[in-house]
Amino acid sequence: MHRIGIDLGGTKTELIVTGDNPLEVIQKKRVETERTGYSALLGQLKGLVDSVRTLAVESPAVGLGAPGFVDPYNGSVGSSNLTPLCFKPFQQDLEEQLQMPVRVVNDANCFALSEALHGAGKGYGMVLGIILGTGMGGGLVLEGKIWSGSQGIAGEWGHATLDPKGPECYCGRRGCQELYLSGTGIQRLYRERSGRELGSLQIYEAWKQGEDVDAADTMEIFLEIFGQAIANLVMCLDPDVIVLGGGVSNLPILYEEGLKRVSQQVFQGRQKIRIVPNQLGDSSGVFGAAAAAGTKP
Ligand SMILES: [Zn+2]
Repeated sequence: MHRIGIDLGGTKTELIVTGDNPLEVIQKKRVETERTGYSALLGQLKGLVDSVRTLAVESPAVGLGAPGFVDPYNGSVGSSNLTPLCFKPFQQDLEEQLQMPVRVVNDANCFALSEALHGAGKGYGMVLGIILGTGMGGGLVLEGKIWSGSQGIAGEWGHATLDPKGPECYCGRRGCQELYLSGTGIQRLYRERSGRELGSLQIYEAWKQGEDVDAADTMEIFLEIFGQAIANLVMCLDPDVIVLGGGVSNLPILYEEGLKRVSQQVFQGRQKIRIVPNQLGDSSGVFGAAAAAGTKP
């Protein structure tokens, strides 16, 4: 079976074609995402797929990872930073354009799926994928299948409330976990303390050097919240492995002190919790999209 995977991002869109070996890429394309309107974006995706049609001949199907909330049962997209997509029957429209089966899934679910099938979660029954990037997202994969939940909300824990009196979130609620457990969250915590603007990696480096009290404060709060948030997920799901992605997942502290904080907050201080970095890096989204091609919710 030929699978076409599309990672539709806010700025870049990547397409791959895979064959029997899901990690062997037959063709790869990368373009700037068309953001001027819905029909222009559909036209761009059709053009991309048409350009590889002759390569994908054996029962071809498209899997597409999109940012935002995706209804797993009809593939419509809501509250996405890629605004032309919002509240449109995207999957249905794309199928009509391409005359091919299409499955649209949330991009964080693509991450979890590719890591579960081909990456750091391979061989485990329940894989929890957590992206700590500009925002926070996640997905749950059970025995090789995305678990979307009854309404498609499974994995949206970035918008679980941590502090009802906390800062406002773009989702309309307050104090969401994403506002703390993300690159922008770390930057905000540091800015509120120091009045200075630094990237999350710079804040981490400043903390390691041991001379910046605001960086130390920020990292301490971040680690404590990380421990709490992940421990809450472990208490609900007790996954076999937790795979981290996104820019913040490159901080080695998460797998040492971060893991310790999680264990401390889990019932009876359980030590068998596995938190590991992803293995597919930036390609996880597009491989996950390809893996979703031809599947059903
Ligand atoms: Zn929120």
